[in-house]
Amino acid sequence: MPERILVVVCDGLGDRPVSGFGNRTPLQAAARPALNFLARNGACGILDIIAPGVRPGSDTAHLALFGHDPFKVYTGRGPFEAMGVGMEVRPGDVAFRCNFSTVDDRLNIVDRRAGRIREGTAELARALDGWEFEGVEVHFKEGTEHRGVLLLRAPGLSSLVSDPDPHQEGVRPHECEPKAPEAALTARVVNAFVKRSTEVLRDHPVNRARRRAGERPANIVLPRGAGIMPHIPTFRERFGMKCAAIAGVALVKGICRVSGMEVIDVKGATGGLDTDIEAKLRAALKALESNDLVFVNIKAADLCGHDGDPNGKVKVAKRIDRAMSLVKKALPEGAILALTSDHSTPCCVKDHTGDPVPLVIYGKGVRADRVRTFDEIACAEGGLGRLRGVDLLPVLMDLAGRAEKFGA
Ligand code: ZN
Ligand code: ZN
Repeated sequence: MPERILVVVCDGLGDRPVSGFGNRTPLQAAARPALNFLARNGACGILDIIAPGVRPGSDTAHLALFGHDPFKVYTGRGPFEAMGVGMEVRPGDVAFRCNFSTVDDRLNIVDRRAGRIREGTAELARALDGWEFEGVEVHFKEGTEHRGVLLLRAPGLSSLVSDPDPHQEGVRPHECEPKAPEAALTARVVNAFVKRSTEVLRDHPVNRARRRAGERPANIVLPRGAGIMPHIPTFRERFGMKCAAIAGVALVKGICRVSGMEVIDVKGATGGLDTDIEAKLRAALKALESNDLVFVNIKAADLCGHDGDPNGKVKVAKRIDRAMSLVKKALPEGAILALTSDHSTPCCVKDHTGDPVPLVIYGKGVRADRVRTFDEIACAEGGLGRLRGVDLLPVLMDLAGRAEKFGA
């Protein structure tokens, strides 16, 4: 009988030795009885999420963990930026990363970041969102600070266009040029949008207030880095499986959604440091009653990594451990549980690195190995050895009795 699968991804949990911890990693320095129980009774290994030495983004990492070849399905950051700011993205949509910028009366770019504008961008974005040009739906949403995302939706769009953003100041924006005949419409829409941004933003109240305060107005939007959202086959299309996901951050939610998972919102699951890890895992166990696979992303450890805060990471690891003791007790009979990370975010680097991440798989039929503790070092000696991110799903499918036989 096919069994259920629960995958818990602790975002950015992997780390490097910290001298203040006697050269242990934050995970090694944390009391973690539940994680160690899983390691003692499960099969361990380490994962190169993309490939050895490749530093994954959370987007490419999750694509790999869901069994997609990220080199094939990741065609540009635009659509994933759109997901990151909480936009709905559909196959065929073309999206651009954008800056709010400042131009003078002759359209020369004075400041590509509009004085590093922080406030009022939501109002500016609303004034630009929801437009139509030559039958193309135009959506725009603000990101953090001076950033935003332009999303175009219509049949037959192409991402083969040049950047209006000249990537330098003192010059006028470039004309968006099609790099192939089929991109002509996309280029026209982008040029019309840039022109419209100057008209809409010039006398917008936010910019009038900025001028009064002696700040640079955000009076143009400069798109760059076009990407088209490919069709990503869903779990149902690939395996006939019904899947659900629980995640706090918009980017991961977006990737779960395009992979065909139902994204369940959990009260208290913020994606921040204060996120309620137990509530997330309790919701995951509940979702497992009516789904074949449930995926959970816990973001907090990654934030500590980016902040360079090893003590904070130890605390997060302890909280994850306490929440996992609950999962260990309530895991349905026969279910397969995997716990891993989507990349390392070492506190000493404050960014993602290519260091492999620890993995444990626990459940009926799993060959327990000699690993006694769950951490980056011990798991490297486990029975699963060193796998790639795309290997995780097939391994879990096999253990859950869901894999098709290859051959007769
Ligand atoms: Zn991540
Ligand atoms: Zn990160």
